[in-house]
Amino acid sequence: MADVRLTNVNKAFGETKVLHDINLEIHDGEFMVFVGPSGCGKSTLLRVIAGLEDITSGELRIGGRVVNDVPPAERGIAMVFQSYALYPHMTLFDNMAFGLKLAKMPKDEIDRAVHGAAKILNIEHLLDRKPKALSGGQRQRVAIGRAIVRKPEVFLFDEPLSNLDAALRVRMRYEFAKLHESLKTTMVYVTHDQVEAMTLANRIVVLSTGKVEQVGAPLELYEYPVNLFVAGFIGSPK
Ligand code: ADP
Ligand code: MG
Repeated sequence: MADVRLTNVNKAFGETKVLHDINLEIHDGEFMVFVGPSGCGKSTLLRVIAGLEDITSGELRIGGRVVNDVPPAERGIAMVFQSYALYPHMTLFDNMAFGLKLAKMPKDEIDRAVHGAAKILNIEHLLDRKPKALSGGQRQRVAIGRAIVRKPEVFLFDEPLSNLDAALRVRMRYEFAKLHESLKTTMVYVTHDQVEAMTLANRIVVLSTGKVEQVGAPLELYEYPVNLFVAGFIGSPK
């Protein structure tokens, strides 16, 4: 487990400033949700934490360690995207084990890690199947399973439910809550869905065009929004 701390983080793509002086503390074990309209910089912020994008200035710490120059694989994070690609020719077991095999983990440890993750996600009975034999929700579970087996200190989820239909999104929301309850790991979760944010978050970060507008617990934002942007965003159902 680890906390994540951003101090005066700026990110520009060429001339375009996308993140403006972000100061943010994500506590150890916290379920933090980033919300904000499309294009406001949510994915960029996650990618910066993951190390998939360099920052233009500022400091980023994970578990107290400055990671500005640490490559993604050494940051102790695992990221799940909205469009997750499973390997179609591999079984679910092999899909989840692949990264561990590359890392030369002993076979019995791989077995334990994959079965442990599959159990949490309720896909143990599907481990011999190939992705095409699965529903959308089951595939998304495998993608999450691939992250769990790596035992990251921080999970980063970028709109993981946005490709699923509405009913499944509601069910999977509950799965994320359960996942956090059982792993107790720091989780950073991006969504543009206010209801998802309100139900899952310990705290919510509201972003608008690369700036943090407000950080607070769901009820706090709902009852005491600092400005009209936050009020409009949190108060209006989808
Ligand atoms: P969100 O995830 O909130 O929809 P993004 O982080 O994807 O927003 O994008 C924030 C802004 O940064 C957008 O204006 C987008 O066009 C721009 N942007 C994102 N990635 C790049 C890139 N690689 N090069 C140039 N501009 C980018
Ligand atoms: Mg995005």
